[in-house]
Amino acid sequence: MNIQGKVALVGAGPGDPELLTVKAVKAIQAATVLLVDDLVSDDIVALAAPAARIVYVGKRGGCKSTPQAFIEKLMVMAAREGENVVRLKGGDPFIFGRGGEELEHLRESGIEVQVINGITAGLAAVTSLGVPLTHRQHAHGVVFVTGHVRPGAEGTDWRALAETAHKARLTLVIYMGVSGAERIEGELLTGLPASTPACVIQNASLPTQRHLSTTLGSLAASIREAGMGSPSIIVVGDVMAGVALATAHPASARAA
Ligand code: SAH
Repeated sequence: MNIQGKVALVGAGPGDPELLTVKAVKAIQAATVLLVDDLVSDDIVALAAPAARIVYVGKRGGCKSTPQAFIEKLMVMAAREGENVVRLKGGDPFIFGRGGEELEHLRESGIEVQVINGITAGLAAVTSLGVPLTHRQHAHGVVFVTGHVRPGAEGTDWRALAETAHKARLTLVIYMGVSGAERIEGELLTGLPASTPACVIQNASLPTQRHLSTTLGSLAASIREAGMGSPSIIVVGDVMAGVALATAHPASARAA
């Protein structure tokens, strides 16, 4: 008989437990072991069965984040012991969550693995302001892009992106961009007008959510002035011109 367990890579969404999918809730409730990332809120972890073993693999475990290779090893070990493992990740597991690497490792180790989508932070952040990411008149598409540069890596080609976004009318949704905002602003200005509407949304979907509405030319200065920090999403594009209007009527802007 095969007693091997399985792993589900589960998207926990942006923070608000009500934004979990039904599939995610069922997987969390059925898990015997949960490996939990930093950005997953306590209310979501509380859905786990009382007997489940919960392992925090982010910084709140007390030390630095657990190295990726160790997390992958833990998942394989637990599955081989017959556990029903849930790897709980913020937002969607396949948007900047290293979910792809974890999936590959599990498959190579012969572990049965399932992926359950979550609402990615960029989508939730913009929707919470009552603004659409695409619009027939203002935006023909969306780019989810990372502002984080791996040490030694080249990083995003912001100049090429700015030119394309301008020509093709795309909304840019930037993850992990706050600490590099000055560099990102400078490079995007090579292809996009300084007057392009921009918005920064911190703690999207949580009671602590706040946002600032600005322009690309004032992005870094506004972030500094308002003291915006992580986790935040930066959105650049004409659709964000609607924010001032939408937030003047908060009742209609926030999802009920
Ligand atoms: N897989 C996640 C992204 C992980 S990368 C997803 O799909 O959402 C981590 C980055 O996501 C943060 O630096 C921040 O840019 C963004 N992020 C995650 N949760 C957020 C939240 N509640 N509000 C704003 N940004 C958030």
